[in-house]
Amino acid sequence: MNTCIFCKIIEGKAPAKIVYESDQVVAFHDIHPKAPVHILIVPRKHIPRIADLEPEDHGIMGEVIGAAKAVAEQFGVGDGFRLVVNNGAIAGQSVFHIHFHLLAGRCLGWPPG
Ligand code: 5GP
Ligand code: ZN
Repeated sequence: MNTCIFCKIIEGKAPAKIVYESDQVVAFHDIHPKAPVHILIVPRKHIPRIADLEPEDHGIMGEVIGAAKAVAEQFGVGDGFRLVVNNGAIAGQSVFHIHFHLLAGRCLGWPPG
């Protein structure tokens, strides 16, 4: 049984505020936003981590980046946003279904913590 929360959201079996959907990508508001705009952009395909990508998945990840651009424009932040992917627990990953965090709407410090 698939217990992945993001798979459940993608399948409509768990609630989320979805802001974008395409054949290969879904985007929805983070439940605990870390910025005025904090959207998670995920491939429909369950891939746990960037480190698990196969060459056949590279096209999907291109779609994810394209979706990020579309979501940024949708929220009026196309000129200033950050995309973050945490890979592995040591880097802060807590949901093991690849997702890009799109963060915007405040000053974003560099380097990140
Ligand atoms: P990670 O720590 O894996 O990089 O990011 C996981 C993100 O998913 C966190 O920012 C967390 O707030 C968010 N999150 C965890 N569970 C849910 C959920 O059920 N719904 C939504 N919308 N976001 C979630
Ligand atoms: Zn999943």
